[in-house]
Amino acid sequence: MPKPVLSLHKLDAHYGDFQALFGVDMDIAAGEVVAIIGANGAGKTTLLRSIAGLLKNQAAQVTYQGDAIGALRADLVAHKGIALVPEGRQLFPSLSVEENLQIGAHTGRAGPWSLDKVYGLFPILKERKDQASTTLSGGQQQMVAIGRALMANPDVILFDEISLGLAPVIIKSIYDVLPNIVGDGMTALIVEQDISKALSVSSRVYCLQEGRVSLTGATNTISRDDITRAYFGVG
Ligand code: ATP
Repeated sequence: MPKPVLSLHKLDAHYGDFQALFGVDMDIAAGEVVAIIGANGAGKTTLLRSIAGLLKNQAAQVTYQGDAIGALRADLVAHKGIALVPEGRQLFPSLSVEENLQIGAHTGRAGPWSLDKVYGLFPILKERKDQASTTLSGGQQQMVAIGRALMANPDVILFDEISLGLAPVIIKSIYDVLPNIVGDGMTALIVEQDISKALSVSSRVYCLQEGRVSLTGATNTISRDDITRAYFGVG
C-alpha cells in the first residue's frame, strides 16, 4: 500500500467503564473508499467518532498526513480536512437548508465544493434552500448532511449509516451520486449496515466484531462466508 493518509494505532475507546473498541489498527491510503461493516453495537460509529475528534483518544492513536491528531478537538480535526456525515444527520432544526450547508464551510478550506456544486449534486436542495431543514424528508435531510460535510472541502469524508431508515428509492439515489463525491480522489470511510451496498462502493473492507477488527481485505477477494464469520463470529 502507498503511504497511508490516515492510520489508527491500537485505538481503544471507552464510554465510562464500558470499552467499545479494543486496539483497532487501520491504514487508509489517499483516495481509497473503505467500507466498515459489523453488527449492531460492533463499534462502527464509535470508530468514526474517534477519528472525527468526538471521543477522547491519545494523540498517537490517530495519525493523519503524518500528524498525531488523536487528541484534537472535533473542530480542529475538521479544519485539517476530515469531515463526518453523522448517523441521524444532526442538522440544526431552526436553520434553513442553505444555512445548514453554510455551516460546513466554517473550516475555510479551499477546494472544489461550493453551494452551487452541492446544489448540482442534489438539485432538490436548491428548490428547498430557504425551508427549515425539519420540513424536509429524511432522504433530503441526509442530502443536507452530506452537502454540509462537502462544504468543508475535506480530503477525507466519514459516512455513518447514510442509508439508515431511508426508503430504497432514496438510498439508491444517494448511492448513485457517491461516485461524484469520491470520484476525484476523496478518501472515504463508509459505515453501512447493508453489506451489499457497502461492498458495491468500496475497494477494501474492515469488519468489526465486538470492538475488534475481525476481518480486513480487498472487497473483491473476500467471500460471503468470510464476511458471515467475521460479522457474527460463527461458521
Ligand atoms: P449501530 O449500528 O447500532 O450504531 P455500531 O457498530 O455503530 O452500532 P457503536 O454505536 O459504536 O456501534 O456502539 C459500540 C458499543 O458502545 C455498543 O455496545 C454501544 O451500546 C456502546 N455505546 C455507544 N455509545 C455509547 C454511549 N454514549 N454510552 C455508553 N455506551 C455506548
